[in-house]
Amino acid sequence: MITPWFKEEHEIFRKTVRKFMETEFAPHADDWEEKKDFPNWVFKRAGEMGFIGLTYPEEVGGSGCDTFYKAVFCEELPRSESGSVNMALLVQSDMASPPINILGTQEQKEEYLVPMIKGDKIGALGITEPNAGSDVAAMRTTARRDGDYYRINGTKLFITNGARADVITLAAKTDPDQGYHGISLFLVDTDLPGFSVSRKLEKMGMHASDTTELRFDEVRVHKSKLLGRENQGFYEVMINFQGERLVAALTAAAGASYILDKTITYIKEREVFGRPLSKFQITRHKVVDMICEIEAVRQYLYYCCWLFDQNRNPAREVSIAKVMATEMSVKVIHQCLQLHGGYGYMKEFKIERAYRDARLGTIGGGATEVLKEVIGRMEGL
Ligand SMILES: Cc1cc2nc3c(=O)[nH]c(=O)nc-3n(C[C@H](O)[C@H](O)[C@H](O)COP(=O)(O)OP(=O)(O)OC[C@H]3O[C@@H](n4cnc5c(N)ncnc54)[C@H](O)[C@@H]3O)c2cc1C
Repeated sequence: MITPWFKEEHEIFRKTVRKFMETEFAPHADDWEEKKDFPNWVFKRAGEMGFIGLTYPEEVGGSGCDTFYKAVFCEELPRSESGSVNMALLVQSDMASPPINILGTQEQKEEYLVPMIKGDKIGALGITEPNAGSDVAAMRTTARRDGDYYRINGTKLFITNGARADVITLAAKTDPDQGYHGISLFLVDTDLPGFSVSRKLEKMGMHASDTTELRFDEVRVHKSKLLGRENQGFYEVMINFQGERLVAALTAAAGASYILDKTITYIKEREVFGRPLSKFQITRHKVVDMICEIEAVRQYLYYCCWLFDQNRNPAREVSIAKVMATEMSVKVIHQCLQLHGGYGYMKEFKIERAYRDARLGTIGGGATEVLKEVIGRMEGL
């Protein structure tokens, strides 16, 4: 449907993404989930389709599209049936690579951003540590200057794509006494001596994706790999957070909507006590409540996309969007599972997978409580 937000070309793109997800990824999703792995060709195919570089400038191989194309892409992602692959691709396009686009030198863009957009290089974002998640400034990984090099030492935890990445967009302390003012960003090639994947972590959901602990043991990184300005990394990462949180919110709302659609089909077919589940008023009202919540969040997300395209820095609105969308999706998918009864608990209906996968939304990339603090501060509370 054409709306003030979406033009005909967005809807044509929607059809392309939908077909791609349904035919190229979805047929493999169960297998990938079972094997707890997926092949790296997904990056290459996504790159060939232009999905990774959607909003990047044409000079670096992107398509220069507006944020509503990103919204369309996120809305069609659930049809891959693989939250794991969706997360891996979004880490590539909206977490690991944006700092290179915003801060990178021409050489850095050519060496890293261009191949990442093509899907030839895989990226990961290394910020979280065993003792520093929400509190980014508490990180202990250090990068000490040594002539023309930095020596990096430390551990990063929960890093998506960490086991397969060619490059890590890494945050480390260049001035450990300066808290927020002592963090810098680096591009660290994973074939450098001293880098290792120390653990691949077992987790509740997103089983096919690799979530890792990474070790940096005297890793020598040339000064040309410093991304942006020394000691300004925290502020530069904060800018990146808005885009990351917007796609997290868009995919959370899309996931809820996708599962609700499946649930509506199910309750029309499933008969209990002689009539379809959908013919019970309590079921209908529950479903309509969910439709109302999804619609309200979705329209707010479109407003955030519009703010992005106006080159505003919608930190307040994106924080609100991420809280609303991720909390809503956890609640909606929980109720959808309930409406499926025992079948919802079974793997074959894929509701339980969506339920487990969605749970990450309120934790990763800024937990709900942390974002409420951000919003509260902006409201002068
Ligand atoms: C599957 C997965 C993939 C991830 N991928 C990446 C990645 O690719 N790169 C990366 O750098 N990180 C990644 N993360 C890390 C993620 O961003 C962090 O888990 C998140 O920021 C929370 O940090 P933490 O786990 O250390 O929790 P903590 O900071 O220890 O917080 C624990 C809980 O305390 C509460 N809390 C925290 N602060 C406050 C506060 N100020 N007020 C009130 N309550 C508070 C919240 O409920 C929070 O969930 C990933 C995590 C997961 C689970």
